[in-house]
Amino acid sequence: MNPTTDVLEQRVAALEGGAAAVAVASGQTASAYAIQNLAVAGDNIVSSTDLYGGTHNLFKNTLAQQGIEVRFVDPANPKAFAEASDGRTRAYYAETLPNPKLEVFPIAEVADIGRGLGIPLIVDNTAAPLLARPFDHGAAIIVHSLTKYIGGHGTSIGGIIIDGGNFDWGTYPEQQPALNTPDPSYHGAIWAEAAKPLGPIAYALKARVTLLRDLGGALSPTNAFHFIQGLETLPLRIKEHVKNASQVADFLSQHPAVKRVNYPRLQSGTAAKRGHHYLRGGYGGLVGFELRDGFEAGRAFIDALKLFYHVANIGDVRSLAIHPASTTHSQLSPEEQADAGVNAGYVRLSVGIEHIDDILADLTQALDKVAADVREAAE
Ligand code: PLP
Repeated sequence: MNPTTDVLEQRVAALEGGAAAVAVASGQTASAYAIQNLAVAGDNIVSSTDLYGGTHNLFKNTLAQQGIEVRFVDPANPKAFAEASDGRTRAYYAETLPNPKLEVFPIAEVADIGRGLGIPLIVDNTAAPLLARPFDHGAAIIVHSLTKYIGGHGTSIGGIIIDGGNFDWGTYPEQQPALNTPDPSYHGAIWAEAAKPLGPIAYALKARVTLLRDLGGALSPTNAFHFIQGLETLPLRIKEHVKNASQVADFLSQHPAVKRVNYPRLQSGTAAKRGHHYLRGGYGGLVGFELRDGFEAGRAFIDALKLFYHVANIGDVRSLAIHPASTTHSQLSPEEQADAGVNAGYVRLSVGIEHIDDILADLTQALDKVAADVREAAE
């Protein structure tokens, strides 16, 4: 614990409307601890398929090697979460605005199913701080990679776990043994009971005094300071991200080299309804699009960009671009890539807060260059 980190934890907890928060070394640490705080070897969680590639790897490989099974289900059908659950399901997991699929998760529907079964919903709200408020819709835990919009400059890596204080762990002793049975690592404390005098923070307290103590994924206070600074401009930055991304999405929709644009405002059917319902603060700063000419065009487009940085991060003030099929999602099979919303020509932009004319000029010259290269290769 550290006083600077404490300020960050209190502010992010307030931002999300939670009861307490625990800052950790990275977004990955936050996701891992969020689950390990409830599940041990032999247990399982049910997760949406629509995940950031690193989280997918954590779930499919590392947690599996630790004996925690992750059952992946398609969030298009919320009932699939109930169908995949059993007496050893300790949590549901999803991203609000999944990176890179960008189809908003049905938070209330799945949170309700879980609450009936004693299973909390953990939501990664990294891509939508201020835009979506998962606790208002029944999520029990929120995680963030602070590395993204909250930091805003890609200078520091950090993560945070926020306890909504809205899940009554004591009501489900069998479904949630981690918080309801004596913990031998802390004088036999039963966390659901022991935390009562401090408020509804049993989950956050356990994460801090067991996982953070034992595994040591602490956030450095200097990075906490950077994130506090980032938080101070987040409301202004996020508005600019949303405004610019929206214009980029419209621009790409009209471009002949682009087969399809993926932006929550331009989606149709259920995805559009969910986007509209949950993204109350705007449709976000991420835009995906598919190039007509596939894998090589995707790679060439990234190489041709001049203003956009080629970085796997999202949420920087600078515009960033990535071709998931050759980078973040290259370890996934084609089927897994398709489940995560990625295909050969798919490019994901994290639109920054530069002047929109500069952003559109860079996209135009890069698309023109790819078109010229494709023509040349065909001749
Ligand atoms: N969650 C989401 C949605 C992400 O996009 C990322 C990183 O890209 C992470 C978690 C992991 O965060 P970190 O890089 O801080 O470990």
